[in-house]
Amino acid sequence: MRSPILDYLDAIIEDTEHVVSGARADYIPELASADPDRVAVALCTVNGTVYASGDANHEFSIQSMSKPFAYALAIEDHGLEFVLDRVGVEPSGEAFNELSLDPETGRPRNPMINAGAIVTHALVGEDHRPAADRVLRLFSDLAQRPVEVDEGLAASELETGDRNLGLAYLLHASGGLEQDPAAAVAGYVRQCSANVTVRDLALMACTLANGGVQPNTGQRLFGRRTTRYLLSVMASCGMYDAAGDWLTSVGIPAKSGVAGGILGVLPGQVGVAVFSPRLDAHGNSARGVAMMERLSKDLGLHLMEPGRPARSSLRETRKEVVDGEPATVYVLQGDMVLSSIEALVHELVENTPSTHLVVFDMSRVDEVLPVARRTSAAMTAKLVDTGHRIILVDPEETVPEFQDSRGRAVERWTPERLERSQLQGGS
Ligand code: GLN
Repeated sequence: MRSPILDYLDAIIEDTEHVVSGARADYIPELASADPDRVAVALCTVNGTVYASGDANHEFSIQSMSKPFAYALAIEDHGLEFVLDRVGVEPSGEAFNELSLDPETGRPRNPMINAGAIVTHALVGEDHRPAADRVLRLFSDLAQRPVEVDEGLAASELETGDRNLGLAYLLHASGGLEQDPAAAVAGYVRQCSANVTVRDLALMACTLANGGVQPNTGQRLFGRRTTRYLLSVMASCGMYDAAGDWLTSVGIPAKSGVAGGILGVLPGQVGVAVFSPRLDAHGNSARGVAMMERLSKDLGLHLMEPGRPARSSLRETRKEVVDGEPATVYVLQGDMVLSSIEALVHELVENTPSTHLVVFDMSRVDEVLPVARRTSAAMTAKLVDTGHRIILVDPEETVPEFQDSRGRAVERWTPERLERSQLQGGS
């Protein structure tokens, strides 16, 4: 059975088809020839299951989405104070490759713009071990597969990389970068040329949502404090000169890359990633921003939305006799948001109920977000289509009226009727 969460992601792709504005990055020759119509979206809740749609296995370079991870490594290695002395945390309001340092402190304004990212990259080098190799190992641990550098792309960026070289020399001259400027830029460019898919990015983002622990391997890759700190910097500086607009409209810590990817994190809940190569004037994927706006709205991801519990919607599963028939009763609870409904849908897709009769007892459910309503309706329709008899106990009518593909409506019972039937079945 196909998960309704995948159907939802397909809809995001379909509904943003009209967004064809923007242009591929052309200052890196290889990026200028990328297929502009590729598109993908993925999400991963803190339960660790990745859902992806579109060109989900298409690889593209991580680019600036690598910056937060290198920054986290630098903090873990050297401590926050040391890193703060060298790179600030103020939004610059400038483009990602601006040739400027803070006039008062002489430091790069933040680690998300290139100046700050070059310094950060240089900080994570260990004796005789190139920093890029270390960052790649980290990416592989995050994505649970070997992540590799696209060497052709890295060479292509270096050929036209005068601007980053200029920045590195400026930093070297002002004492902010000890390393040889050309070597630092070559390493930084390799870090940016690591090839990933939206699936990888969703897992990487999810690890940040999960406080630094990779949800499937259980490996702690960053400390809790580091992760919190990093997410704050992503929220204020991740989208460059569109950061303020982003925080109000989408409202999640995020980072974009010039190959067309954007990753976003809702702490405690979910990591999301999108890909589409055409960029807007700020250097952020135009269709990617549209997909993220849609995800944020549908999934209730905005950070400033009052707290949502991340616990599962499924309170218990019971086997009992209802209406004289053996039944599987799913008792649901609390607010149904994406991360809670996902756990339920995952359970239903993996362990299809063995009884013909399936009861969803929703009398303990408080609020149901639109996405959860749609997902649960779609899930119920799939169960009806596979021959199950469904009873919904839904006094608040949180799931709308609907019919399956053969026009059969689901049965709706009151909580009292279910209780009566359970008493009879048990006696
Ligand atoms: N490698 C790119 C650069 O330094 C990364 C920029 C980006 O993704 N915004 O120009």
